Amino acid sequence: MIAMDVVALGELLVDFTLAGKSAGENNLFEQNPGGAPANVLAALTRLGGSGAFIGKVGRDQFGAGLGQVLSEHGIETKGLVSGDEAHTTLAFVHLDATGDRSFSFCRKPGADTLLRPEEVDFGLIDSARIFHFGSLSLTDEPSRSATLCAVEHAQKKGKIISYDPNWRPPLWKSDSAAREGMSLGLKYADIVKLSEEELFFLTGTDDLPSGAEQLYASGKSLVVVTLGAKGCYYHCSAGYGSVPGYAVRTLDTTGAGDGFVGAMLYHLSRMDHSLDQAPKELIEEILSFANAVGALVTTKPGAIPAMPTMAEVLSFMEEMRQQS
Ligand code: ADP
Repeated sequence: MIAMDVVALGELLVDFTLAGKSAGENNLFEQNPGGAPANVLAALTRLGGSGAFIGKVGRDQFGAGLGQVLSEHGIETKGLVSGDEAHTTLAFVHLDATGDRSFSFCRKPGADTLLRPEEVDFGLIDSARIFHFGSLSLTDEPSRSATLCAVEHAQKKGKIISYDPNWRPPLWKSDSAAREGMSLGLKYADIVKLSEEELFFLTGTDDLPSGAEQLYASGKSLVVVTLGAKGCYYHCSAGYGSVPGYAVRTLDTTGAGDGFVGAMLYHLSRMDHSLDQAPKELIEEILSFANAVGALVTTKPGAIPAMPTMAEVLSFMEEMRQQS
């Protein structure tokens, strides 16, 4: 029986972001819940959709806190397991002298990489319309095997499979290991969302339309490349093209891509058409809605706390329509 829109599998971690200096001039870090698949579910539930999470945290304060955040956002957590073998994964976000962000991960190993195939709640996958995953659970064993078992199960059960191959160079041994691992997930995906940089990295092209076409032609139903403030570019059976973004006062782009995916999956899970039969206008409407969610996420700090409600998105889109 289909009981929910999306089940997402992957990393759940604590992101520590710089939050000024103490009186003693030491860096202060703010503790934020993080992990792309969880952010996607938070975006979805905030819009009124339903979702469940599958993943692993350590049996510690951080893990318990993360589980609580998911529950507070209406995300089903019975697929979230905790273990004693490693602590909950932590990531520290640093800013260099030019203001560019870099990550250092406490993940050698972190609990998220220790999800085992037998710990996956396959019943949850059966009960969802869409299975969503990313590439971070493919970096290490046993979570790589657990992810592949889960996605193969989802495929066998005829679920729509959505994949976001996030590229985090420090988490892979080499670029070629990253390309191989990230490509593994691509094999199963019906829907792929990626950045231009990830598209070029995976396809070896440096041309957006031909890279998107190449991915689409490898057997996908919908390829979406997000382009920051410019919006996104898509390729699907009904055609291809750009969908412009929305001009907003951007404060923090964390979580914009995940908000975009959550919004897109919200509508795709409710669509009357199959993905391969959806008209171009409908796909563009859905992507424009996802652009609006991505834009709104950038106007607030953080990822999960920045996800907008359906009412907020609709009134923002109406306001933008009136201005144009
Ligand atoms: P990611 O967060 O995965 O790197 P992007 O930065 O491309 O992905 O953002 C995802 C989506 O969020 C974009 O396609 C766009 O719709 C929206 N978005 C991101 N940054 C901005 C911005 N500065 N202004 C308006 N919309 C944005």
